[in-house]
Formats: sequence, structure tokens, C-alpha cells
Amino acid sequence: MDQELLKKNFEGHGFKTSFFRTKEAAAEYLASGIEGKRVAMGGSMTLKEMGIYELLEKKNEVIWHWVTPGEAALKKAREAQIYLTSANAASETGELVNIDGTGNRVSQTVFGPEKTYFIIGKNKICTGFGTALWRAKNVAAPKNAARLQVATPCAAANGDKCYDCSSPERICRSTVIIERPSKGMEVEVVFVDEDLGY
Ligand code: SF4
Repeated sequence: MDQELLKKNFEGHGFKTSFFRTKEAAAEYLASGIEGKRVAMGGSMTLKEMGIYELLEKKNEVIWHWVTPGEAALKKAREAQIYLTSANAASETGELVNIDGTGNRVSQTVFGPEKTYFIIGKNKICTGFGTALWRAKNVAAPKNAARLQVATPCAAANGDKCYDCSSPERICRSTVIIERPSKGMEVEVVFVDEDLGY
């Protein structure tokens, strides 16, 4: 992970950045800085692997549809003050790429609460925007489809690649590229020098 390059390019685009060697250190940083808030979390293997829900719920109200599934949790997440998610890919040139099926996650990242955090493991860092978009479509999305066991060709093939399917259960519906935080939003990208999520 080229910390200097990531810092220069993401901060040049108006993001805040922070860097950690381990997921435990990143989780501790987040838990120590977020207290007494209403926090929502996007569906994310990265967040699950960090155990951040368990840490944050000690001192915050945390809304996560992976703990309380259903429409109500997704709607309540809209009222959060803080939003945590990962991205499917980040480029060393300073962009974040996310693909979403329901749209809850990407909508919160472009018209979100007072602060949004992206937690990015080193496996998601790509050299440029083109490779980041390729990764999101061809690595992250098929693996997520396989995890969700949806009826798509990529899931049937255990997430090996994208088949650009037209399945009713296609999970790839909105592809959002964040070049800079939306106006009025504070966005911090928390980089972790470990593999996290897909
Ligand atoms: S477009 Fe279809 S085949 Fe491609 S990753 Fe998404 S769900 Fe899988």
C-alpha cells in the first residue's frame, strides 16, 4: 500500500484519510472517535471482519440490516448521523467505486449524513480508475453474488467472474464512482494494510 500516494491523491480530492496496519487498530480508531451517535452501516464483509458493530454498539445506537434485516432498518439508516461502509475498489488516483443492487449503500455515500467512513483493505486498492472499475465488476460483485447465493451465472460459478447477466436477481444495478465527496459531506477513507472483504 503506497500510503504517500493514496494520501496525496485522496486528500487532493477533498477526502480525509487515515492509515492503519491492522483491522484491529482501525476498529479501535473508529470506536474511540464515534460516541453517542446514531450510526448506520452498509452491507460489508469488511465491516463484519472488523467486528466494528460489536464495538460501536457499546456507545452508540447502531443500525445494521445484517443484524436486523428488513425494510425498516434500511429506512431508519437514512436518519443516521454517521455512516460506515466499504467500497468495491479504490484507485491510487483517488476514486472510490461501489456497485449496489438495492441502492441503500450507494445512496448514503453520495447524499449521506454528517460523516461517512469508507474502510478499505489493501486488496481493494487498484492503480487507476479503470482497474478499480474492472475490479468492482469482475471481482467484488461476483463474489458478493456467490455469498448471497442469488440465481445468477456468477454465483453458480462460485463468483469466478461477471457474465453481465440479465437475471432478475442481478445484484449489479447501480455503479457509483465517487471522485470527490458530494457538496456538504465529510468523507474519510480509512485504509488498512490487510486484506479485508472482497
Ligand atoms: S452482472 Fe450478473 S453475472 Fe455480473 S457480477 Fe452482477 S450478478 Fe453476477
